[in-house]
Amino acid sequence: MAEITITGWTTRDVRFPTSLDKTGSDAMNAAGDYSSAYCILETDSAYTGHGMTFTIGRGNDIVCAAINHVAERIKGRTLSSLVAHWGQTWRHLVNDSQLRWIGPEKGVIHLALGAVVNAIWDLWAKTLGKPVWKVVAEMTPQQFVDCIDFRYITDAITPEEALAMLTESETGKAERIRDAENSRAVPAYTTSAGWLGYGEDKMRGLLQETLSKGYRHFKLKVGGSLEGDKRRLGIAREIIGFDRGNVLMVDANQVWSVPEAIAYMKELAEFKPWFIEEPTSPDDILGHKAVRDALRPHGIGVATGEMCQNRVVFKQLLMAGAIDVCQIDACRLGGVNEVLAVLLMAKKYGVPIVPHSGGVGLPEYTQHLSTIDYVVVSGKQSVLEYVDHLHEHFLHPSVIQDGFYQTPTEPGYSVEMKAESMDRFEYPGKEGSWWRSEEAKPILEGEKI
Ligand SMILES: [Mg+2]
Repeated sequence: MAEITITGWTTRDVRFPTSLDKTGSDAMNAAGDYSSAYCILETDSAYTGHGMTFTIGRGNDIVCAAINHVAERIKGRTLSSLVAHWGQTWRHLVNDSQLRWIGPEKGVIHLALGAVVNAIWDLWAKTLGKPVWKVVAEMTPQQFVDCIDFRYITDAITPEEALAMLTESETGKAERIRDAENSRAVPAYTTSAGWLGYGEDKMRGLLQETLSKGYRHFKLKVGGSLEGDKRRLGIAREIIGFDRGNVLMVDANQVWSVPEAIAYMKELAEFKPWFIEEPTSPDDILGHKAVRDALRPHGIGVATGEMCQNRVVFKQLLMAGAIDVCQIDACRLGGVNEVLAVLLMAKKYGVPIVPHSGGVGLPEYTQHLSTIDYVVVSGKQSVLEYVDHLHEHFLHPSVIQDGFYQTPTEPGYSVEMKAESMDRFEYPGKEGSWWRSEEAKPILEGEKI
């Protein structure tokens, strides 16, 4: 293939008005507008690389501004030079000595990194004519290890250990690839019924609907009020049962202190949740450990990750035994490469990967990551969150059938958004776009909660 050079990039601030119907609402995030800080890498060929990071509205413009700084670092570089030594490329992207001050490797600048790194993966996979999961599945263990910047994690896992683990996982990989090709690699769980702002009738209807579609795992938001949560979890158990093989999970989105989390969850133990997600601050490793230890006798596990800053925090959560479930996020982490590092650590510490997917574009991304985990790293099936919102804006949306993600087959990383969707929902938008319409006024002129 001819050499391809990155000639420039475009950022788009795209916001979908989900706050109008409370989609995405939870105990911490009352009214989010699901948004993409979007990056399109331009090249001297017909190929473009599409990557995005997810936010819930205000501040999406700040992430777009940060994308401009990160993308600048690869302008003029050839694609082959970027992917030949991926770990070094990743290090180069986080290593601008001035930009590093506003991280390092966390917050806005790291969200921006995720968009840019994922855009490179999308571009690369498109030129290879394969979906991203397949690109990784066809790597040798050494090529996989070379994708990772091991700085700060060698006390948990060394490149040599990673190589040995991946070599061992080669056994059975061909069958697991076949499972993936038959769309039997990644079972889905649903959060669609569980948003806190939904009324009980809407929740009941959505639970029944998703149950009949073949889902077996259901997640509900909690942390609004104990009485209300008991009522909602009671309804959920009434519909999905206790003994029909259906699994219930709950998510508090960080609203509690550690003692509050323990006390509150003991009250909800009767509903037998598999895990409590984000019981407290995402940075509190010892707090998660304390919650986990206190809830273990009650049969409740602890999950976190959607706001876990980077591989270093995941390393500590895993080494401290603070979590039962590892919820990687496709763009909170610095793109595919950093996710691969966390998959390896989770495998080593025996913790299942259950990615965070509650956001626009996230299921499109994470279907690749869960497939990679199953096929290449853990060799074990897990579950992956699915929220049934906004997929119509993507050229190749994720699809669930019989409770399984349908493994992506189109080349790339699946987050290429339709041009007309970007134009319509770009913020603040041009004349004639949604954010300039009357419909937008309740959000633009309303209280910022
Ligand atoms: Mg969550």
